[in-house]
Amino acid sequence: MAKIIHNKSKCIGCGSCVALCPKFFEMGEEGTAHLKGAKINSETQNEELEIEEPDCAQDAAKICPAQCIVVEK
Ligand code: SF4
Repeated sequence: MAKIIHNKSKCIGCGSCVALCPKFFEMGEEGTAHLKGAKINSETQNEELEIEEPDCAQDAAKICPAQCIVVEK
């Protein structure tokens, strides 16, 4: 199991994660990325999604210019 954490408050809406990893990311109405099916962590307000395999999420984390995607394994 792994977990994707997206710090939405730092997202600048560049769309790179969506282009690289549409399996997990989509653009939200407010112009920032949204982690599909994520829950909001009530303490940090980050989006969090439990996944089986990181797959493309690691590539998205690497390319994100705002460094607001973390993949925990
Ligand atoms: S790559 Fe990073 S900054 Fe760009 S839309 Fe995705 S989460 Fe936001």
